[in-house]
Amino acid sequence: MSFLRLLFCVVTFLFSLTTLSAEKPFDFATTPGKLPKQVVPEEYQIRIAPDLGKLTFSGSETIKLNVRQPVRQLVLNALEIKITSAAVDGEAIPQSAIKLDPKEELLTIALTSELPAGPHSLELKFTGKINQQGQGLYYAPYQEQGTGAKKMMLGSQFQATDARRFFPCWDEPSFRARFQLTAVVPENFTAVSNMPVEKETKIAGGKEVRFAATPPMPSYLNVFCAGELEVLSARLKNVDHGVITTKGKAAMGRYALESSQQILTYFNEYFGEPYSLPKIDHIAVPGGFGGAMENWGGITYYESRLLFDPEKSSAETKQNIYEVVAHEVAHMWFGDLVTMAWWDNLWLNEGFASWIGTKCTAKFNPDWEVWLRKSVPRDPARRYGLGKESAMEGDARSTTHPIHQPVANEAEAGSAFDDIAYRKGLSFITMLESFLGEEVFRDGIRKYMAAHKLSNTTTADLWNSLSEASGKPVSKIAAAWTEQPGFPVVKVARGSEGKITLTQERFTVHYENAPALEWKIPLTYSIAGEAAPANLLMASKTIDLPGAWADRAVKLNVEGAGTYRVQYDDVSWKLLLGELPKLSSADRANLLLDAWALVQANRAPLSHYLELVEKLPTKDELAEREQVMHVFDFINRLLAGDPQREAFQKYSRSMLRPSFEQVGWEPQRGEPPKIAVLRASLINALGDLNDEEIVAGCRARFQKYLSDPRSLAPDLRPSVFAVVGRYGDEATWSKLHELGRKTTSIEEKQYYYDALACALDPKLAARTLKISLGDELPTSRAIYLVAKVARQSEHPEVAWEFAKANMKQLLAKTDALAANSYAPGLFAFFSDAKRISELERFAKSDLPPTAAKAVGKAVDEVGFRAEFKVRLLTQIGTLFSDRTKER
Ligand SMILES: [Zn+2]
Repeated sequence: MSFLRLLFCVVTFLFSLTTLSAEKPFDFATTPGKLPKQVVPEEYQIRIAPDLGKLTFSGSETIKLNVRQPVRQLVLNALEIKITSAAVDGEAIPQSAIKLDPKEELLTIALTSELPAGPHSLELKFTGKINQQGQGLYYAPYQEQGTGAKKMMLGSQFQATDARRFFPCWDEPSFRARFQLTAVVPENFTAVSNMPVEKETKIAGGKEVRFAATPPMPSYLNVFCAGELEVLSARLKNVDHGVITTKGKAAMGRYALESSQQILTYFNEYFGEPYSLPKIDHIAVPGGFGGAMENWGGITYYESRLLFDPEKSSAETKQNIYEVVAHEVAHMWFGDLVTMAWWDNLWLNEGFASWIGTKCTAKFNPDWEVWLRKSVPRDPARRYGLGKESAMEGDARSTTHPIHQPVANEAEAGSAFDDIAYRKGLSFITMLESFLGEEVFRDGIRKYMAAHKLSNTTTADLWNSLSEASGKPVSKIAAAWTEQPGFPVVKVARGSEGKITLTQERFTVHYENAPALEWKIPLTYSIAGEAAPANLLMASKTIDLPGAWADRAVKLNVEGAGTYRVQYDDVSWKLLLGELPKLSSADRANLLLDAWALVQANRAPLSHYLELVEKLPTKDELAEREQVMHVFDFINRLLAGDPQREAFQKYSRSMLRPSFEQVGWEPQRGEPPKIAVLRASLINALGDLNDEEIVAGCRARFQKYLSDPRSLAPDLRPSVFAVVGRYGDEATWSKLHELGRKTTSIEEKQYYYDALACALDPKLAARTLKISLGDELPTSRAIYLVAKVARQSEHPEVAWEFAKANMKQLLAKTDALAANSYAPGLFAFFSDAKRISELERFAKSDLPPTAAKAVGKAVDEVGFRAEFKVRLLTQIGTLFSDRTKER
C-alpha cells in the first residue's frame, strides 16, 4: 500500500469514526422537525361530532399553550381540515390571518401583536372528512356476525403523521401533551379512546362521550373508534383489560384477552415500571388498515390479527395473535411511555418492540420455536411472523440504508416503517443481548425506562443506559450496525496445523463496487467435541481463532443469533457436513440460510446449497423445511415457462415428499403445533410443485368440506383452498367466491380470496383482479389482491396491465405512502430485465418524486431476478435430473 493510499485510508477511517458516533442524547431544542419550538402545547380539549351519512365531521378544540419565547405567529399541523374559526386567549382571529398550506401540511395563524412568553390558549373550530382508507378518521364497512347486515364502524389511524387530519395539532413526536377527547356518537354506538369514559350525556340525536385526559404523549398515539360494539373484559391488578369487537364477535376475543394479561404482567416485571394507564383495550377493526397500532391504552388491530375462532382459526393464526399482541403491548413502554424523538430513530420503537415481543412469545410458548422460525423467511403477507432473513436479504442490496436514517418530511417518516427498522433492529438487539448477557441487558433497559419515562430519546440514550449497566462501550460496538448500511460475511480459512483465520468483508447481492465497510462483530462459535460455545469480539478485519483445530468442525454464529453470514473454505465445510446430525436444528437452519445467500451472492454454485439439503439428517424439523420450501418456491417461480422447470419440480418433489409421508394428511391427537404447521406448508408447497397426489387429495377434501365443513381441520384449510384454487376451473372459482362473499369471518374470507388469487387460468385471474375494485373486501386487502395474483397466478403481466388501467381506483383505497410503493411493488414479480425500462418510464410519467426509493428497489429486484435466472439456467443443465436419479 502506497503512503498516499495509506494516508487516504487513515483519513477515511477517522472520518468514518467521527460520523459513526455523531448522534447525541435527546434534546428538544435540537430535535429535527418542521415545527418551530418556541410554542409547545400542554393540553388539548377536543370535541368531535362525526356525520356518518355525509362522511364528514365537525370539531372544536382548546389548546393550552406554553409560549417559551415571544412569537408573532403560531405554526402547527393540519391537513384536509377546514378552519371555521380561531381565537387566541379568547380573542377572535380574522380568517385572513389563517393560512393553510396543504403541501407543507401546516396551519399558520398570524397574530396582530406579539404573544408574550407564558401560558396562553388557542381555540379552533374546524371540519374534516371520514376516509375510505385507514388514514386519519376512517370508516370500515362490514357484514354483521349472525345477521349478515351491512354496518359501518369508525376507526382512526394517526401514525406517523395523520393526527393532523383529525384535529389541528403539533404533530411531531417530541411535542408531548395531554389529550382529552369528547365525541358525539349515535345512541347505539360504543365509543373507545385511550382512556376510560369519564362522562356520558344524552343529547339530541345521540350521546356525548367524554374520556379522561391522557398522560403527556405524542399526538400520533391518540385513538378513536366507535360502532355497534361488544366488550369482553377482565381486571388484573388495577388494570382493566378489554377486547372490543363488532357485535357478535366478542367471544372470539377470549384468547387475546388471556394473552394480554399474561403479557402485561411479564412486561411490568421486565421494564421495572408498571403499566401506567387504568385500562388497556384491544380493538378489532374489520377493515381500514391491515396491521395493528399501539395507541396508548387503545390498541387497534385488523380483525383477523386479534380474534381467534376455535372452529375456524388455524394454529398459525393463534401464534400470530399472541405475537402481535406482545409486540403492541411492548410499545406501551417502548414507543408510548418513552418515544423516539424523531422518525429517524423509528427503529427504537419497532426494533425493540419486535425483539421483546418475540422474547415474550417464546418464553410462554416454548413449543412454537418462535426464534428459530423467525430466522427463516415465510409468506411475506404475514408481516409479524417474518424475521431477520428478509431484512438481511434487503440489507445486502444497493438500495439499503442504515437503521438510523435521516427523515426530512412526512413522506419519509411513513416510509421509515420498513424491514430495516423492524427486523434489522430486532436482530441487532438479539445479538447485543447475547453479547452483554440477559440480566445485564435487562438492567440497562430498566435504567433507560426510569430515566426517560414520559419523555423522548435517541439511540444514544439507549446505548448510554446499556453502557452504564454493562460497563462496556456499547455505542462503539453498535455504531457500525446502526449508522452504516449492510452487514458482514466472515470467511473461515484453515491454515497449517489447524490454525483458523477469520476475515470479514461486506456481504452484498447484485451490488457491484459496494463501498467496503467494517464492523465490530460479537462472534460466537462452537468447536465439535467442546461442551460450550465460545465468543469473542471481532474488532478488526482479520483475526485468528485462539487454539488449533486440525480435524474438528467449527460452526460460527451459534444458533444463528448474529447478523452476519459465514463462508467456510472447502475443508471446513466438509467437516461441518459430517457433523450435521450433531448440530442443533437452529444451527442447521442457519447453515441453510447462509448457503442459499452465498448462491444468491454468486459466492457459491447452486449445488453447494443442494448438497446441504440432501444431507439434512431429519425430515420434520419445521424451520429447516420452511427454509427449503422457500428456496424451492423461489426457483419454481423463476423457472415459470422454462423447459427446465419440469426436471426441477420432479427433483424438489422428491426432496419434500418424504417429509410429507412422515407427517401424513390427517392431524394426530396431541401432536406438537409445529407438525400441524409443517403439514399445511408441505401441502401448499407440493401442490405448487404439481404433485398429482396432493392436488387430487386437496380436491377430494374440498368436496367433502362443502357438505361437511367439520371434516377439514382449520389448520389445513388455507392450503387446501389454495391448491384447489390454483388448478381450479370456473365452477371451483365460483364456489370459492361464493363462500368468500358469504362468510362474516374476516380470517376465513381471506383464505377464500387468497385461493381465488392462485388460479393459473388467465381468464380466472382476470376475474379475481376485478374483485379488487369492488367492496367485497376491506380496502387494505382489496388492493393487495392484485399483488397476490401477480405472484400466485404466474401471470404478473396480466396483473400489471390491470393495475395500470385501473390505477386511480386502486390508489383511492390506500394512503399516499402506499401509493409510492404500490405500482413498483407489482414489478418485483418480473424476472425479465426488459421490464426495468418500462417501470422507469411509468415512474417518470405517473409517479411522484417521493416514489423514487420504491422504484429503485423494484428496479434492483427485477435486475437481480433476471441476472440470477440466467446464472441458474447455465448451472442447471442436467443438475436436477442427475440428482433425482441419484436419490
Ligand atoms: Zn410496532
